[in-house]
Amino acid sequence: MSDRPRRVSVLGSTGSIGQSTVDLLRRHRDEFVIEALTANRNAVLLAEQAKALGARFAAVADPADYPALKEALAGSGIAAASGRAALVEAAERPADWLMAGIVGAAGLEPTLAAVRCGRIVAFANKEVLVSAGTLFMREVAAHGATLLPVDSEHNAIWQCFDFTRTDGIEKITLTCSGGPFRQRSYDEMRTATPAEAVAHPTWRMGAKISVDSATLMNKGLEIIEAHHLFRLPSEKIDTVIHPQSIIHGLVTYRDGSVLAHLGSPDMRTPIAYALGWPGRAAAPSKRLDLAEVGQLTFELPDPRRFPALRLAREALRAGTGAPTVLNAANETAVHAFLEERIGFLDIAATVERTLELLPGGRLESLDDVYDLDKAARAAAARLIAALA
Ligand code: NDP
Repeated sequence: MSDRPRRVSVLGSTGSIGQSTVDLLRRHRDEFVIEALTANRNAVLLAEQAKALGARFAAVADPADYPALKEALAGSGIAAASGRAALVEAAERPADWLMAGIVGAAGLEPTLAAVRCGRIVAFANKEVLVSAGTLFMREVAAHGATLLPVDSEHNAIWQCFDFTRTDGIEKITLTCSGGPFRQRSYDEMRTATPAEAVAHPTWRMGAKISVDSATLMNKGLEIIEAHHLFRLPSEKIDTVIHPQSIIHGLVTYRDGSVLAHLGSPDMRTPIAYALGWPGRAAAPSKRLDLAEVGQLTFELPDPRRFPALRLAREALRAGTGAPTVLNAANETAVHAFLEERIGFLDIAATVERTLELLPGGRLESLDDVYDLDKAARAAAARLIAALA
């Protein structure tokens, strides 16, 4: 760890990633100064976190929650703000390290703002890279920003990946728990409820990523994320189901050596690695006891029961705007499923149909990304309305 307190901001501090980050920051209270925290609507938790950490600035995305935030922060000396511009301000305030922990493409604008300030960005918000990958990475390079992968699989690969001799790397493998429906038949999944879909067997996460894990879209999004982070084509990014979630990622070298990263399934470990980088910060995660785990098992994902994985690969191969459409349609469909407006199998079906209607198109600028994202959400919403 550095010898002066580092200034840190957390976008999405009230979420699952955000709360794990705040937990670590509380444990390392003397090593960090907290600049800004943000949420969407959870003003009460945001204010509590801001006061506990002595943050300088707290912002909610939804202006309707501003009065509650202002009231909860009254007398604390912490500045309160709301709206999209306030999230951008939170991202632009001076910080040595920023957690990008918002869920969905809603995180694009503030995360991009941090990138344009040349920040070190601990990167969890994978939808940003799926939606705007090539253009986003261009901004990272242009502004000298640094992305530290936080997604457990990408964090694992990062720790095993020889960036100085990438010609020796044959492929990487992202592991996948298989989600709560790993052993369900296609027909059984037809009646799956939101409560069953978010009951992940090994990880505790936000609702959206939990549903993505149940459809395996999460692994598809991660393939696209890995493509951008590690500059590898789809053919060099493998996935394997590993129900115990102990091995998080593997790198296969051309001499046949395979380097794997292991750890208990607790996001505080990858977040701590990003927080301590280039050193290591202590994390309280349960230490791995292989004898207690007993068995590590592996199987291939079933493309028939989990079509989302195929759709994501096809979108990556198609390039242009297809991943933008894939992500926007998926966010819209997952939201509708969580509100019980469509069934579980309708999620992937909606994404597939939206991709047929809007196969992509060239993305020359970030405005093109925003426009295509909006068009894909509208197309998916029409399909969903027709289903309902
Ligand atoms: P959560 O739903 O738990 O939290 C999301 C956070 O973003 C909350 O702070 C939420 O605020 C805020 N937020 C939601 N919508 C908006 C919006 N429109 N504008 C601004 N802020 C918003 O998500 P997770 O923490 O599970 O996931 C965050 C990201 O990290 C996702 O991209 C996910 O894929 C990725 N990730 C998550 C992992 C995990 O273990 N959870 C593992 C690996 C990656 P509020 O609380 O007010 O709603």
